[in-house]
Amino acid sequence: MFDALSDRLGNTFDRLRGRGALREQDVRDAMREVRIALLEADVALPVARDFIEKVTEKAVGESVLKSVTPGQQVVKIVNDELVAMLGGSEGEDGHVPLTLEAKPPVVIMMVGLQGSGKTTSTAKLGKLIREKHGKKAMMASLDVNRPAAQEQLAVLGEQAQVDTLPIVEGQQPVEIAKRALESAKLRNVDVVLLDTAGRLHVDEALMAEMKAVASVATPTEVLLVVDSLTGQDAVNVAQSFSDEVPLTGVILTRMDGDARGGAALSMRAVTGKPIKFAGVGEKLDALEAFHPRRVAERILGMGDVVSLVEKAAETIKVEEAELLAKRMAKGQFDLNDLRMQLKQMQSMGGLGMLAGMMPGMKKAKAAMQASGMDDKVLVHMDAIMGSMTPKERANPALLNAKRKKRVAAGSGTQVQDVNKVLKMHQEMSRAMKQIKKMGGMKGLAAMLG
Ligand code: GDP
Repeated sequence: MFDALSDRLGNTFDRLRGRGALREQDVRDAMREVRIALLEADVALPVARDFIEKVTEKAVGESVLKSVTPGQQVVKIVNDELVAMLGGSEGEDGHVPLTLEAKPPVVIMMVGLQGSGKTTSTAKLGKLIREKHGKKAMMASLDVNRPAAQEQLAVLGEQAQVDTLPIVEGQQPVEIAKRALESAKLRNVDVVLLDTAGRLHVDEALMAEMKAVASVATPTEVLLVVDSLTGQDAVNVAQSFSDEVPLTGVILTRMDGDARGGAALSMRAVTGKPIKFAGVGEKLDALEAFHPRRVAERILGMGDVVSLVEKAAETIKVEEAELLAKRMAKGQFDLNDLRMQLKQMQSMGGLGMLAGMMPGMKKAKAAMQASGMDDKVLVHMDAIMGSMTPKERANPALLNAKRKKRVAAGSGTQVQDVNKVLKMHQEMSRAMKQIKKMGGMKGLAAMLG
C-alpha cells in the first residue's frame, strides 16, 4: 500500500531534514517533488494541487523557516495535511465508525459495481458486527441479475457464521428487502446487511433500483464498495453514486494489491464521504477500519506503531507487548528487546507483513534484503542473539571483536552476520528514539497500561 509514494516522499523529506536551515526555495522545490509523487500515485489533479497550495502556504512562513528544525516542521505540516486529505483526525485517529446504535433492526445497505468486492465485503462486515460489536446480524442478497449471487452470499454467510435470508426464487429486490426487514424484526436481529445488485457501469436502472430499495429499507448506513485498483475511476464511481443515493461512507477493497493509493488519497476530498473500511484480502477477516492518521504516518514512513501494537496484542503474549511498549516509550531498546521482537515478528507472519508498520523496519528490511536476508534469517538472528550473554544483549557496546568471534562460533555464523544484527538493532533503536522525540509514543504506554 502506498509503497511508491512512501518511497518518493521519504527521499524528498530525508533531504529536507538533512539540512540545518531551509530557504523558501528549498520548500518550493520539495513541494514540486511532492506534487509529482502525488500525481504518480494517481491522486486526482485538483486534490494534489489543493494539497500543495495548503502545505506551501503554511510551510514557507517565518516561524517554520526560522525554527530550529525546519525540515521536521515541514514534514509535520505535510503529515497533518495528509491526514486531513484522508479524512481528518477526529475520533479514533480519524476513523468514522459504523452507526449501529439506532433502533433495531439497523439497516446497512451495500452498493457498488459488479466485481468491486461488494458481496465479500458484506460478509466481512457481518462477521465484524457479530464478533467485534457482539450484535446479531443478518444478510440478504438483493442481486437478482447475477446468477448465483444469492447463493454466493449464503455460502459466505456460513463461513462468517452470520445468517442469510432464505432465497425465494423470482422475488424482486424491493420485495426481498421488505421480507428481510420483517424477518429481522421477528428474529430480533440487530443489524441487517442488504447486498444490492451491481452492474458493470453506473446506469439509470441501477440508480432507480437503489433508490427504490432505500425508500423501503430506510438504511442507517449506505456504504459504497469500490475497488481501489481502479484508481481515479473508483473516485468517479463514488461521485456518481453520491449524487444519487445518500452515501454514508466508502469501503475501499483490494488495498492489499494497491501500490499507488490514489483512490484512497482523493476519495474524501472529491466525494466528501469518509472511507470507513479497507479490504485487504480475500479472507473474511481481511477488513481493516480505516484510520487516516495511521495511514498518513505509514505513508510518511513514521511507522504505524499503534496498529502494530494492536496486532501484536492480538497474536502475542500481552505481557511481552506491554513490557516492550513501555521500554520503547522510554527510548530503551536493546538486543533483548530486538530478540523478543523478532520472535513476535515470526508469530505475526514474518518480515513482509511488518515492513512499513514498524518504525525503521523499512530501512532495516531493505538493508537485510540487500544482503540477501529473508525470513529464514530470522532464525539465524535468533541464534546469534542466543549466543550472547544477557549482559551483552542489554549493552551491545560490550561486543568487541573477541566477543563477536565467540558469538559467531556459538551460533554457527560469521562475524559479519553478527555485525548485521548489530546494525539492524542500531537502525531500529535510532528510529525509536526519533519517535520518542516526536512524542508519537505518548499514548502507547498509556494504552497498554
Ligand atoms: P461483487 O461482484 O462486488 O459482489 O464482488 P465479490 O464480492 O464477488 O468479489 C469479487 C472478487 O474480489 C472475489 O474473488 C473476492 O474474493 C475478491 N475480493 C474482494 N475484496 C477483496 C480485497 O479486499 N482484496 C482482495 N485481494 N480480493 C478481494
